[in-house]
Amino acid sequence: MLPEPANDPGLRAWCDIPTSTDFPIQNLPFGVFSTADRSARTATRIGDQVVDLSALAELGLLNDLPHSQEAYATDSLNPLLRSGRPGITSLRRRLSEILRKDGPWDKDRDLITRKAFLPVASATMHVPVKIGDYTDFYSSREHATNVGSMFRDPKNALLPNWLHLPVGYHGRASSVVVSGQEVRRPNGQTRPDDQAPPIFGPSKQLDFELEMGFITFDGPELGNPIPIGKAQDHIFGLVLVNDWSARDIQKWEYVPLGPFLAKNFATSISAWVVTLDALAPFRVEAPEQDPPPLPYLHRTGPQGLDISLEVDIVPAGSTAATVCRSNSRYLYWSMEQQLAHHTVNGCNVRAGDLMASGTISGPTPDSAGSMLELAWKGTRPLAMPDGSERTFIHDGDTVVMRGFAQRDQVRIGFGELRATVQPAFP
Ligand code: CA
Repeated sequence: MLPEPANDPGLRAWCDIPTSTDFPIQNLPFGVFSTADRSARTATRIGDQVVDLSALAELGLLNDLPHSQEAYATDSLNPLLRSGRPGITSLRRRLSEILRKDGPWDKDRDLITRKAFLPVASATMHVPVKIGDYTDFYSSREHATNVGSMFRDPKNALLPNWLHLPVGYHGRASSVVVSGQEVRRPNGQTRPDDQAPPIFGPSKQLDFELEMGFITFDGPELGNPIPIGKAQDHIFGLVLVNDWSARDIQKWEYVPLGPFLAKNFATSISAWVVTLDALAPFRVEAPEQDPPPLPYLHRTGPQGLDISLEVDIVPAGSTAATVCRSNSRYLYWSMEQQLAHHTVNGCNVRAGDLMASGTISGPTPDSAGSMLELAWKGTRPLAMPDGSERTFIHDGDTVVMRGFAQRDQVRIGFGELRATVQPAFP
């Protein structure tokens, strides 16, 4: 079997790559793009180039892999995901061979460039998978503690279940949008005065939530759990997630069934799915768990990921303010634990499901992953470069999230997750 490209920091591509890129040959993420003259198809990315997988297939370079030609030429990654982790692993290793300096296809670089490469600026990116179901967890202890302190009791910030299971809820798949798509401020019911009836109008407390999400391969049939030791076999890769939240709508509506319209108006994800294989060198121990969880949630090896995360707010016509620096390694509940818990009752997962971590907050004030925490419920406004202040997100603001892992001069990143907020429906 070919070597895993992410494990070889010395690997070089035959094409030009910016030195600080998120997309060296060790990454090789997957996405879906279209161009002005042709409909959506699948791709990988290297440096600032989109590499059209359907074109590589037409050149015969992807023969003898477990995917049909049509699977590369379609508007979602779902047909490719049907081959499971072995199929995607073998595809990524083939792509690494094709793009490797002094590799077997280096001599064909001119042909490959002409037929399959285009600059990222010429590509329109799409939501990379047809998401069947979207689940959002609540896996950051710091975030749950901050929110519990704010709205309940700092001495008993965590609810009794929190240290025993990864709390989650079912989200909405239809409103998941890709980086670059605008997000409209939601209208809804709020109750700003506890002594008065609720009112209707645009949310006044629109917030981002910095999260990482993972996309699944098919799991076993309905009724069969995924044991934690097999969870990685069912995880395709990760994206950045901005789980937009209207705090004022949330506060009024969430009792007793949890978030609804405060969350389902939009969830933004980054365009490139970075595979679990590419992130393997960045595994770290997740935070120690006390009390130890029940046996079905026992971790099997390092299940944290050392991915640096940042959030910028860019006011309209102004420059960016970096308001948050965090890391996915702070997550108390791992992806594997989330997936094992999600399926322990027999709930099935399907190729293309999205599972998000919940807001990722770290131990320091500037590592909180939401405005709710950064500006502490509106009491500590953040200064913007244009002299304005933010407690929540304004119309015209652009929220930009970035994530990357780095070691041995190799940086495996996600690119940007960017969305601008439009005024509410009139
Ligand atoms: Ca969330």
